[in-house]
Amino acid sequence: MSTPRVALVTGAASGIGRAVALAYAKAGLKVVVSDLDAAGGEATVALIQQAGGEACFGLADVARPADHVALVALAESRYGALHVACNNAGIGGDLAPTAEQTLEGWQRVIDVNLSGVFYGLRAQIPALLRAGGGAIVNVASILGSVAFANAPAYTAAKHGVVGLTKASALEYGSQGVRINAVGPAFIHTPMIERLESDPATNAALVAMHPIGRLGRPEEVAELVLWLSSPAASFVTGSYYPVDGGFLAR
Ligand code: NAP
Repeated sequence: MSTPRVALVTGAASGIGRAVALAYAKAGLKVVVSDLDAAGGEATVALIQQAGGEACFGLADVARPADHVALVALAESRYGALHVACNNAGIGGDLAPTAEQTLEGWQRVIDVNLSGVFYGLRAQIPALLRAGGGAIVNVASILGSVAFANAPAYTAAKHGVVGLTKASALEYGSQGVRINAVGPAFIHTPMIERLESDPATNAALVAMHPIGRLGRPEEVAELVLWLSSPAASFVTGSYYPVDGGFLAR
């Protein structure tokens, strides 16, 4: 793959997605910043521009296939091509045991966290092929390989993202498109603010991480950036935890 020039990040108004967008821009990529949250997305664009980078915002609900097609079209019309994508947008969903999950709650988590990645790949892969190759990083979770009680939909969706990553990587590796997944443990972002705000819960979360603290979005972005770069040219179809040792127990 030649040097990538244009990247797309979903869920980039906040947390890990914003950190990934900033890292891509710092590395010299033009970035299509996407989210459901327009104000947050525009704020990410402003942060990139203030740092001397180039970015634009595209409103998209990752649960809508047509929105991904529009995002890819935005990248190609604005910047000429798409070389890198990070399918990051996700939701936590309701905490409840399997038999007590609502059908709506289950469906929304699967729609956003799993189908949202599939719709992304489906739109992005042809663009990467048109560009002569590229890389995609899907944001899974430690729950892509282990489970939490009371999070059946989230756990199933993130396991699904890991499987989808492997299948699609097999299909397109020989055509210059690498596809990998990352598995963050608990990271300080708005997604887990409610858990962190309770001191006992926060202490229990910290204790799950042998490194002795939760992670920062920038620490996930470093791994995503590397997997997206030509430095990772022989890396595809894999799942990389970034978890402070969580999965080593
Ligand atoms: P976050 O701070 O809540 O950011 C997620 C962003 O995605 C938000 O801006 C959110 O917008 C947006 N989003 C939600 N649903 C969307 C949709 N349907 N279409 C487009 N954008 C949507 O969460 P985060 O912690 O950075 O999470 C990013 C990814 O990392 C997720 O896939 C998550 O599952 C994964 N992850 C997070 C952790 C963690 O501990 N934080 C651990 C493992 C994996 P709104 O704010 O408007 O909803």
